[in-house]
Amino acid sequence: MTAFLRPANWPQALELRAEHPDALVVAGGTDVCVDINFGRLSPECLLDISAVPELAVISRSDERLRIGAAVTYSRLLAEIQTDLPALAAAARTVGSLQIRNRGTIGGNLGTSSPAGDCHPPLLASRAEIEISSVTGTRMVAAAEFFLAPKRNVLRPGELVAAVHVPRAAGPQVFAKTGTRNAMVIAICSLALVLDPPTRRVGTGIGSAGPVPLQAVQAQDYLMEALNAEGQWDRPRPLPPDLISGFADRVAAAARPIDDVRGSAAYRVHALRVLAGRALTWAWDEFREMP
Ligand SMILES: Cc1cc2nc3c(=O)[nH]c(=O)nc-3n(C[C@H](O)[C@H](O)[C@H](O)COP(=O)(O)OP(=O)(O)OC[C@H]3O[C@@H](n4cnc5c(N)ncnc54)[C@H](O)[C@@H]3O)c2cc1C
Repeated sequence: MTAFLRPANWPQALELRAEHPDALVVAGGTDVCVDINFGRLSPECLLDISAVPELAVISRSDERLRIGAAVTYSRLLAEIQTDLPALAAAARTVGSLQIRNRGTIGGNLGTSSPAGDCHPPLLASRAEIEISSVTGTRMVAAAEFFLAPKRNVLRPGELVAAVHVPRAAGPQVFAKTGTRNAMVIAICSLALVLDPPTRRVGTGIGSAGPVPLQAVQAQDYLMEALNAEGQWDRPRPLPPDLISGFADRVAAAARPIDDVRGSAAYRVHALRVLAGRALTWAWDEFREMP
């Protein structure tokens, strides 16, 4: 019989995690229950963190949002649209309403699928993951969190407490290709963040490599061109060769495989298209900003 642990607060959750390092953590259960139903997991002990109130809090400072690990997609959609448009847009594309009501941002990180929809916006925004255990808390950059498909830096006894994300100071876009709206796992996805105050560009690529990726050369290329042409101060339409140069570099950053959802060649092609569109949308929005 499976033991079921249900802490009522955060200190209790960390203590139980330390006492039961082999327990399977469950938040919304939308990944865990599928694995149990298909017989891929048969845990002796479940640690259900869905009743921990501290994990359900979204708090704001002037610069950042701290989003508790057990915040669901439905809440992201409803509550962070103006603070973090790309993450809210990603939440909108996740599964069906039922999945969005149960699935959490911490569970997405816990699973660490290369196709997880939260990951590209977190990478593009240079988010940090707050990880805790009974011995303390550490912050890990989103770019350092993922190690391999479905593997991350979490150690035994640790839980994701929250994600810290800089608030949007400019346009943000999330775009995803898949076969069907609702229940669609990304064939590939892309987040693009423009940050006019720091003149930085951020990217995140999903489902086109062993882990979620950043298109660093594409970011550098675009930042250099925008700075050289004085575009941040006097934004004008972007030249087509700049848009295609950016899109080519995003596509070149991908390290996709062929799988049931799409071929590697299709993913590279789709990413190039998404990158061109995302930059066009984001730049049009920037030009209209007061
Ligand atoms: C029909 C369907 C459609 C889906 N569509 C999408 C989609 O479009 N996009 C997408 O990205 N995903 C999708 N998913 C996958 C899933 O919904 C997400 O990954 C979701 O974010 C998981 O969150 P959860 O709270 O349900 O996680 P759970 O299933 O409870 O846990 C997932 C993993 O994370 C671990 N975990 C959970 N919380 C923590 C924590 N705080 N600290 C450490 N480890 C933790 C668990 O141990 C487990 O390994 C879909 C799933 C289904 C069944």
